[in-house]
Amino acid sequence: SLLNASGLGLVNLGAPAVSADSERRKPEELKALALAAAEMLEGRPAEEIAKWATDTFGARFCVTSSMADAVVAHLFSRVSPGVDVVFLDTGLHFPETLKVRDTVVRTMNVNVRSIRPRLTVGQQDGEYGPRLFARSPDECCFLRKVEPLERALAEYDSWATGLRRDESPTRANTPVVAFDAKKGKVKVNPIAAWTQADVDAYISRWNVPVNELFKKGYGSIGCWPCTRRTKAGEDPRAGRWAMFEKTECGLHV
Ligand code: SF4
Repeated sequence: SLLNASGLGLVNLGAPAVSADSERRKPEELKALALAAAEMLEGRPAEEIAKWATDTFGARFCVTSSMADAVVAHLFSRVSPGVDVVFLDTGLHFPETLKVRDTVVRTMNVNVRSIRPRLTVGQQDGEYGPRLFARSPDECCFLRKVEPLERALAEYDSWATGLRRDESPTRANTPVVAFDAKKGKVKVNPIAAWTQADVDAYISRWNVPVNELFKKGYGSIGCWPCTRRTKAGEDPRAGRWAMFEKTECGLHV
């Protein structure tokens, strides 16, 4: 599980750390666990929430990261070295985003799994026509993010995200632990209660890699075709799918 400890900068394209024979829990059991934990862990430090997740789910747990910054990956690397970190490599990321991913691979004790869509961008252009993102972003997000995430999460009972309540009104009620009935898995949001100031303080305290695009006027970072700069005072996620009535990629609904 410590592929990256070699410092060779290898990007692991698929294998989870360990898991084949770890026990699986039933959805009812996962739901009960999540509800109890949501109450118990609300208001607790992010480290404690992270530790609960890795203690509870072991190898059946992963962190997901968009590599906008590496705060959550870093948090888990301290609490549970070698933990799996799933990155959805859509093929349409900014080079700055891939640079954060590569820095995490090189410098943190985590097992980065770069998950690719079934189709390359070229194959998708061939099957669905070019620039699907400009015509039907929901379909493009399904092919390049939602399906790959489902595939990646198949072997886990629980996953962590970096969702925060103050990122956008649609995220204001994010619980620290929730049961996702559709996936039948436990979603852990250890920094749900953090403000942007908390994130900034963590980044400077631990010198965590951050996407250089934040310094260039981007408030929230996704694939390059669907991300624009935001203006001062604007909702940070206003720069995502700005040409559509769309604010979420479907990963968090
Ligand atoms: Fe496609 Fe845009 Fe979604 Fe990326 S964010 S998968 S380019 S629609």
